[in-house]
Amino acid sequence: MESRYNATEIEQKWQKTWATSGIDQTPEATDKPKFYALSMFPYPSGNLHMGHVRNYVITDVIARLKRMQGHRVLHPMGWDAFGLPAENAAIERGIPPAKWTYENIAQMRSQLQALGLSLDWDREVTTCSPDYYKWTQWLFLQFFQAGLAYQKEAAVNWDPVDQTVLANEQVDSEGYSWRSGAKVERKLLKQWFLKITDYAEQLLQDLDKLSGWPDRVKTMQANWIGKSVGAYLEFPIVGREDKIGVFTTRPDTVYGVSYVVLAPEHPLTLQVTTPEQKKAVEAFIKEVASESEIERTAEDKPKRGIKTGGIALNPFNGAEIPILIADYVLYEYGTGAVMGVPAHDTRDFKFAKEKNLPIKVVIVPENNVGAIRESPLQNAYTDPGIMVNSGQFDGTASEAGKTKIIQYAEEKGYGKARIQYRLRDWLISRQRYWGCPIPIIHCPSCGQVPVPEADLPVELPEQLEFGGKGASPLAKLEAWMNVPCPSCGEPAKRETDTMDTFIDSSWYFFRYTDAKNPDIAFDKNKVNDWMSVDQYVGGIEHAILHLLYSRFFTKVLRDRGLLNFDEPFERLLTQGMVQGKTYFNPNKTGKDKWIPTSMIDPENPQDPQTGEPLEVCYATMSKSKGNGVAPEEVIATYGADTARMFILFKAPPEKDLEWDDADVEGQFRFLNRVWSQVTEWDSSQVAHSNPEKLSKAEKDLRRAIHTAIKEISQDLEGDYQFNTAVAELMKLSNAIKDAKCVDSPVYQEAVETLVLLLAPFAPHIAEELWQHIGKTDEVEADSAVSRRSTFDSVHQQSFPVFDSDALVVDEITLVIQIMGKTRGTIQAPANADKATLEQLATESDVAQRYLEGKEIRKVIVVPNKLVNFVIAK
Ligand SMILES: [Zn+2]
Repeated sequence: MESRYNATEIEQKWQKTWATSGIDQTPEATDKPKFYALSMFPYPSGNLHMGHVRNYVITDVIARLKRMQGHRVLHPMGWDAFGLPAENAAIERGIPPAKWTYENIAQMRSQLQALGLSLDWDREVTTCSPDYYKWTQWLFLQFFQAGLAYQKEAAVNWDPVDQTVLANEQVDSEGYSWRSGAKVERKLLKQWFLKITDYAEQLLQDLDKLSGWPDRVKTMQANWIGKSVGAYLEFPIVGREDKIGVFTTRPDTVYGVSYVVLAPEHPLTLQVTTPEQKKAVEAFIKEVASESEIERTAEDKPKRGIKTGGIALNPFNGAEIPILIADYVLYEYGTGAVMGVPAHDTRDFKFAKEKNLPIKVVIVPENNVGAIRESPLQNAYTDPGIMVNSGQFDGTASEAGKTKIIQYAEEKGYGKARIQYRLRDWLISRQRYWGCPIPIIHCPSCGQVPVPEADLPVELPEQLEFGGKGASPLAKLEAWMNVPCPSCGEPAKRETDTMDTFIDSSWYFFRYTDAKNPDIAFDKNKVNDWMSVDQYVGGIEHAILHLLYSRFFTKVLRDRGLLNFDEPFERLLTQGMVQGKTYFNPNKTGKDKWIPTSMIDPENPQDPQTGEPLEVCYATMSKSKGNGVAPEEVIATYGADTARMFILFKAPPEKDLEWDDADVEGQFRFLNRVWSQVTEWDSSQVAHSNPEKLSKAEKDLRRAIHTAIKEISQDLEGDYQFNTAVAELMKLSNAIKDAKCVDSPVYQEAVETLVLLLAPFAPHIAEELWQHIGKTDEVEADSAVSRRSTFDSVHQQSFPVFDSDALVVDEITLVIQIMGKTRGTIQAPANADKATLEQLATESDVAQRYLEGKEIRKVIVVPNKLVNFVIAK
């Protein structure tokens, strides 16, 4: 064995050995408890970044630990491989999206393998591969058959540069596209939706089952679902038969309604508009039509609206109230109309002030009735209180008033109780090529006809032109699009929209349980066996959509009888970001202020253009800030084990991590020390010792060993405090260094334990050292299994379990003092009584030497610490 720690050589050797031995394959059908460890799968951009590294290393430590603790572990990896970047690469560089994607996958796969991740590559899934998206299409048809997939005309966020629909989350608060930066427009298109709103209540209620999820993620989901309890009320329109329906959470304020507002797109808008207002209303509708939803509803923007001239009646008191239209009311939300109660709603208050509309107080504070009644309101009073100016309801408290108003409305036919959710149906249509084709054929006679299962998958055609603009590139391929109707045989057309990539990622964790099945999406027994995912690890940026959609899919597939559990992810860990040292010029603004680290002399950081001194901070690693550290560089310099140790040690997993070269060095030095400790130890020196009568040095070392086992085991339970676990490894290494019993079996136990405890964190060096310390017995290959381990891998050992007896301190070092001055020490039993300690001290050689011929005046005994003799002068 080489005396120097050569990380690169060792890592390459073991990666190769593990890959061919198949030790990372998933054992099926054993009696062992299952453990499903899952990282959110990456988009194959072609480049592994530190955020990925952190994510996968965390999951890998958990997977390795669980294997050693006796679980059969499923730890797979795959590719979220559809999406815009591949298509943009095709447009910009003429590379076919499939080629671009598969090349990136190959590159990232080898980067992942260089990290020593114990992934079962036999279960790799790639969402853009026909053997995967065949089943995405099949699942879509499950939704379609259940009435949960439908098409309707809808207003969308339209990116005029990328010429595509954007989700709301892809539009910033100013109304610009996250990708192209273009001002997002509003456009009406026929779109496919999944009816997630049918599951709103379940998705909300079942959050209570997710005790292993961070509270903040559950709160974000609950807010996204946005349940409100209130009333649906109808306002008659003067001179017309129709009524305006509104939803309100404050029916107790209904006597304070001073106007109603329709969304400009509301079908009643033009009908209630008077001839005098027609021109102005039409102009306003046109103006609003080009604005995105985000822009219209932005908090800080002044609300715009105009009168239609139409008049509605408050059914409760017969008051005539004007009908307005305003940009902030969206037709897609609720009923597309709202009642305006300026005295008790902040937004309505601002709007009424601007438009000079009446403000009528109908709720007053319980303990200060006069306060907001007398003088004009300065602000809306939005708290609950007592109803006033509310006819027969005067004097009723707000909460009771809500119920009473709803009851009254029901009796009189004005309205009813209603629960409304902020959550809307999931728009899944994308006018793009590089996505999963929607398996529907539009027939002039039969309507929407599902592609028969035997014809799945509807494959993406390979030869096509990428202009990148307008309708989906698929819509330009006549030969692909024109097909006979599967039902009547008449000429029909394929759907040319592809699916939102969030659909691909809403079920990939099911496919891993039966990844290569050519006949079905997944075997029911296998999915029920492996799911739920015991530990899911990924970024907080997926807190809402990906997790919500995955939960929705799970519930729908459960209701279709395809699986038998309610929730896909038992525990969720959202790892923090990796931040790099970032240089910026405080005198510059925008993107220009960030100066890439590569352009700077760290001794004297200056702006290369202006020579101005730079300031430094930590920011999430990104291309735009030029502050990234490439994983492959770190691996080339120090090895993957050091990179892993640093990432685990530097911060608790859920916290942000600041990259620091000195700390990386520190971990490298630690591994070098472990290397020397194990390789320089000569196992042939080990003599037999009596386990019943260990020396103090042996007992101390055993205590250090079992303290480390105990602490590390605890740190790896629950919250996964890898950072403190690594610190315990260092302590154990220090104890070994200080141990004075190198020829003892306890020393051997210490060395072996150190290697075993290190294995989940730094798998390569641990494997090398394990082989070195003599655990190299070849086990016989099982002829029934073609690929299996033929060596005694450290990763197939049992994780050490602590011996509580070893932690007991049964001996202490007793200090002997003469007249308060320490003269020596002796060993004494722990917790001995004062008389015993005094006797042992008196008989000790140290005491005898000083006390000979002296008169002892007094003996002070501090139990477990010292004995002090006071003698006559
Ligand atoms: Zn037909």
